[in-house]
Amino acid sequence: MNILVINCGSSSLKYQLINMKDESVLAIGLVERIGLDGSRLKHEAAGKDKKVIEVPMNNHKEALTEVLDALVSKEYGAIESLSEIEAAGHRMVHAGEFYSSSVIITDDVMEKVEECIDLAPLHNPPNITGVKAIMELLPSIKNVAVFDTAFHQTMPAESYIYPLPYELYEKYGLRRYGFHGTSHRYVSQRAAEILGKDIKDLKLISCHLGNGASVDAIDGGKSVATSMGFTPLEGLAMGTRCGDIDPAIVTFIMEKENLDIKGINNLMNKKSGVLGISGISSDFRDIEDAAADGNERATLALNTFDLRVKKYIAAYAAVMGGVDAVIFTAGLGENSADNRKNICSNLEFMGIEIDEELNKVRGKEAIVNKEGSAVKVMVIPTNEELMIARDTLELLK
Ligand code: AMP
Repeated sequence: MNILVINCGSSSLKYQLINMKDESVLAIGLVERIGLDGSRLKHEAAGKDKKVIEVPMNNHKEALTEVLDALVSKEYGAIESLSEIEAAGHRMVHAGEFYSSSVIITDDVMEKVEECIDLAPLHNPPNITGVKAIMELLPSIKNVAVFDTAFHQTMPAESYIYPLPYELYEKYGLRRYGFHGTSHRYVSQRAAEILGKDIKDLKLISCHLGNGASVDAIDGGKSVATSMGFTPLEGLAMGTRCGDIDPAIVTFIMEKENLDIKGINNLMNKKSGVLGISGISSDFRDIEDAAADGNERATLALNTFDLRVKKYIAAYAAVMGGVDAVIFTAGLGENSADNRKNICSNLEFMGIEIDEELNKVRGKEAIVNKEGSAVKVMVIPTNEELMIARDTLELLK
């Protein structure tokens, strides 16, 4: 069975066609600048050359039409006919408190996701557009929604409630939801497989460190605490997001800098994080290079980032009453040995001992702790697309 995995952003669309017989990727691609000048599709089928197609794509339906054409292209396609696509799995961001696992998409599901638009105004609308486009273009296949928030629905109330008037939770659903759930679920399951243990017997801390970043405490396979909150702004410092700050700073800056709601949101989401501190870039590679050249603010940005991750690891070990393995994943977590080393330094007291030699690894699965370290330290590249395809297959069975 071939499953098309789709991840729609506001002006972008990522896809993979996965053959579930052996979980091999038949084709992978990305559409950029949907609805803007210069829209283009980058497509690559297994064993064939990369193809870049530059045509105007005014909306997600037009983009998906190009994607489907590319998938069946004689020259650079992956399948002969669209009938070889048996289902679509959609990455959806926010399901509020409605779903704690993936679901087959029905009218009722679409209504629920629309109800959650207030909670994810940037993400849910393009997700919905993508599903509707596939329903029109491939009307005979089933669609499955895999939500970023679903995995975290197992958090106990004390983990998700904010110390604000309780009525606001009742009125607006104001609570911690958490994000990156599909990634945290994938790497935690993979960690259990690699360690040869039942996930029910493991206490894991998953550090998804990319442009967006979050830490998750996973006890017995269930998310029990996570650093992102009501929105993906809370928690760690990120590429451009500020993460945890004193809430009083918000009104202080608004007053001093004469910012309205849009302005302050823009500042906290787009101009903060390691970009804000370093003044250089949101890309950790640029910041690491600058730090190596002696730029003090670049070093400060990296140290600030690492210190936050360290604090969350220690806090989440306390939440679970211990930790068996710390997992690093996503762009930075998978690739940056220096960051992993700095994050783990000073955590020896709680049995986390990283091995500098083993830690010199990039983008592949590895156990990087010292022999005898009480806590395993693991690098596990995330694979949200595969998780989405697996959920889709499972629901179709
Ligand atoms: P993601 O959001 O998971 O795609 O991760 C993107 C982030 O990972 C960017 O900030 C990159 O700078 C960072 N990243 C990717 N590769 C490396 C690397 N080799 N060293 C340091 N950071 C990296």
